[in-house]
Amino acid sequence: MPSLPVLVLNSGSSSIKFSLYEAGNGERTRLFEGAVDGIGTDLGKFWIKDANGKKLVDQTPAVPGRSVAFKLVADALHSCDFPAPAAIGHRTVCGGPTVRENQRITPALIDEIESYQDLAPLHTPIAVYIMREALRLFPSIPNFAILDTYFHRTLPEVATHLPIPSEYVAMGVRRYGYHGISYESIVYQLQPDVPGKLIVAHLGNGASISAIRNGLCIDTSMALTPTGGIISGSRTGDIDPGVLIFILKKLAETTPDAAEAAEKLETVVNKKSGLLGVSELSNDMRDLREAIAAGNAKARLAVDKFCWTIARWIGSYVAELNGLDMLVFTGGIGENDIASRAEICSGLGALGIVLDAKRNNVRGAAVISAENSPVTVRVIPPLEDLMIVDHVVRLLGE
Ligand code: AMP
Repeated sequence: MPSLPVLVLNSGSSSIKFSLYEAGNGERTRLFEGAVDGIGTDLGKFWIKDANGKKLVDQTPAVPGRSVAFKLVADALHSCDFPAPAAIGHRTVCGGPTVRENQRITPALIDEIESYQDLAPLHTPIAVYIMREALRLFPSIPNFAILDTYFHRTLPEVATHLPIPSEYVAMGVRRYGYHGISYESIVYQLQPDVPGKLIVAHLGNGASISAIRNGLCIDTSMALTPTGGIISGSRTGDIDPGVLIFILKKLAETTPDAAEAAEKLETVVNKKSGLLGVSELSNDMRDLREAIAAGNAKARLAVDKFCWTIARWIGSYVAELNGLDMLVFTGGIGENDIASRAEICSGLGALGIVLDAKRNNVRGAAVISAENSPVTVRVIPPLEDLMIVDHVVRLLGE
């Protein structure tokens, strides 16, 4: 196949990230990357930098909404000196129960993905908006939906089936799992020696963890939505369902409209909880580490809870895998927060996980376990855009 420029679009609740790759004959070269951050604010950030890190665009425009944000990206793509994209890959967090395979985007597919937007309410609404705009603005280019849920298609039924009445199962309520493109990129980077028993902890603003046997996912902490699993930046993670019933009843006292009360509950569990809720300070690990250094007890508790939860999850996955060969940390916290890695692993010696403090202290170190640690512990950055390009190239060839 000749070399093709492939554009990757990756949208979140307040940002659109994008990158352009030249892809062909097994080679993948990034030509540029960029982002519009701060959607919904007067002081957004719009930047593009080339493969050498040189800033081609560096602006602070007002970005009141997603339409202004995507127009910035589309105008830049139409006017820049780089080749026009021949295909576009859209990071798609969740396609619901019916859209399970990476595939070419059609208007009908967008409608289908949109009908399950409640499963990923922070991501899907902006993603489907961008899909429609991309089809409109680049009508001659094939667009592909690349799913985070795809990597989790190998979960066994015992993991996907939730213990609820079957009428809800029939509505698509099940474990889907998220961060799949990140997990897939870790397995990809470990090839050809993918360990048989692998745990990957994707610790970013959203945090999850997966158990992977022979390269295939067998369990993952997030379930129906990215709210479940590990406590993360501003989300609860798993919690006694009775807590949600309690909060909902309290909300209903002042908000009789059920839909409005449910929305308030959603804000509580997705935006006001997690590290932010416990610390009453920030969802950002850097702020929390600073506060801990200054003696802030709530910040200490929030981070303790984060590390404690992850250590417990690692323990259960070691049981599920019946052993462990490798533990990988990835995501903004996993890659950068030395103290979190040390605190998570500090009580896991009995599972064969022994860190080397010196190696762990070196930013960018690949292996951070001790020489004699039965389990290898590694830090690997995710290559999500590259993975999306790979899927697009494969789908173009089909
Ligand atoms: P992500 O969602 O993967 O971009 O990760 C965001 C999280 O990574 C935030 O909680 C950040 O505080 C954390 N993070 C990023 N850089 C650092 C750093 N140098 N040290 C500690 N935490 C970091």
